[in-house]
Amino acid sequence: MSIPVLTYHAVNVIKNTYAENDHLALAADLLTIGELGLNIIPLSKVVDWHLGLLDDGEVARSVAITFDDGSWFDFYDLDHPTCGMQRSMFNILRDHMASGRSNGQVHATSFVISSPQARESLDKTGLIGKGWWGDEWWREASSSGVMDVECHSWDHLHPELDRVAQENQIKGDFSQVKSFVDADIQFRQAGENIAGVLGGKSPTLFAYPYGSVSRYVVTEYLPEQQSAHNFLAAFTTEPRRVSKTGNKWLLPRYVFGRDWDTPGGLKNILTRF
Ligand SMILES: [Zn+2]
Repeated sequence: MSIPVLTYHAVNVIKNTYAENDHLALAADLLTIGELGLNIIPLSKVVDWHLGLLDDGEVARSVAITFDDGSWFDFYDLDHPTCGMQRSMFNILRDHMASGRSNGQVHATSFVISSPQARESLDKTGLIGKGWWGDEWWREASSSGVMDVECHSWDHLHPELDRVAQENQIKGDFSQVKSFVDADIQFRQAGENIAGVLGGKSPTLFAYPYGSVSRYVVTEYLPEQQSAHNFLAAFTTEPRRVSKTGNKWLLPRYVFGRDWDTPGGLKNILTRF
């Protein structure tokens, strides 16, 4: 038995077509999931099952959905400068639930970049500088029952930031986080800031930026510092299904655009056991 986890990036709005718009893809993919008779379950349930806390029967024929980077496109409908109004990922989930075409629960986990300074800077360099990378929505999303807010590192080691929490200022490669000082910022400090915004609810799931991670983080920092950082599991972007075996700090996910870019491609992933 195994469970696929799907990943979308809400800032990917290039055109208003399935292949080049993660919002349109999500809306179509929810229908595909429904047609296949699969259940959407929260990512936390996938982890509970992986950790042996849930029986196979409780997660049978299921799929989990995740979003990375956590801009306003996850939560608010926004008028995109070249593609027009975009329904938010959150509202697409709610629309699907209201349509009656889901098999029960509709849910996704949003992995957000924690650092307010990093998001403010990325809003200017990566978006259009309208303050669309704020955390105003995290608490409402997190208490909605439709979307969990979890951690996607402190600063993503994003190449467009002046300074990042990496000792040699190596950007764009999260496997370069390999010292205690850097890891403690990217994991513990990131989690504490998100918990502060959420009113005390600590994130327990982590998604590695760019999907990769160092041996130090997986074999030393995460297992040894668990009481400090509070994470229970972490996700890469290795394209395979989550199984009961394997390392809880290296759980896999499929990524839209890279691993499928048509509804048929998704069907292959969802029905390939
Ligand atoms: Zn990311």
